[in-house]
Amino acid sequence: MNSNGADQNIRIGVFVCDCGMNIAGVVDTRTVAEFAETLPNVVAVVRNRYTCAEPGQNEIKRAIREHRLNRVVVASCSPKIHEHTFRICVAEAGLNRYLMEMANIREHCSWVHQGDKTAATAKAMDLVRSAVFRATLLQPQTEPVFPVTPATLVIGGGVAGIQTALDTADAGHQVYLVEKSPSIGGIMAAIDKTYPTMDCSI
Ligand code: SF4
Repeated sequence: MNSNGADQNIRIGVFVCDCGMNIAGVVDTRTVAEFAETLPNVVAVVRNRYTCAEPGQNEIKRAIREHRLNRVVVASCSPKIHEHTFRICVAEAGLNRYLMEMANIREHCSWVHQGDKTAATAKAMDLVRSAVFRATLLQPQTEPVFPVTPATLVIGGGVAGIQTALDTADAGHQVYLVEKSPSIGGIMAAIDKTYPTMDCSI
């Protein structure tokens, strides 16, 4: 890695989303994209009108293959909305899903700085720069799968415990109901009648 942070093994693609006018109506996405091109390790920059739509995702996959990208930065909306979408997208193009980073230039820029386009654009550039440097440090992750015994332990044989045990059993799972006292029923078992029917509580 040289003094600019450039590493010839890191190839980052940056995808800047307009979100129609949601982002592009405030943030100058062309300027953001041109700025991204100057960042270390960035080898491809693409602007999309709607990055999460099928054409936008296809553009990401095409660029991964064409430019041999090994990191992806999507500058769009909150990761809460589309992180999963883009992780699947990059994985479908053969990239480890954890080599994708997002910069939130919608909720954190265009939506909260609508009255100041210059500041919104400057902040978007900062967020993209941060995401690119974070992406540089990302490492592939694996998701280990552990065998799980699909049985349920319910502690407490009161009304709630009994009902939980019944519902869980109805769902097809083995249930172990544990009660510390000699009988189940909890407080209900000690009540003579229950309102409003005055039925026996047991
Ligand atoms: S990725 Fe997010 S910001 Fe871009 S079009 Fe989809 S919802 Fe809008």
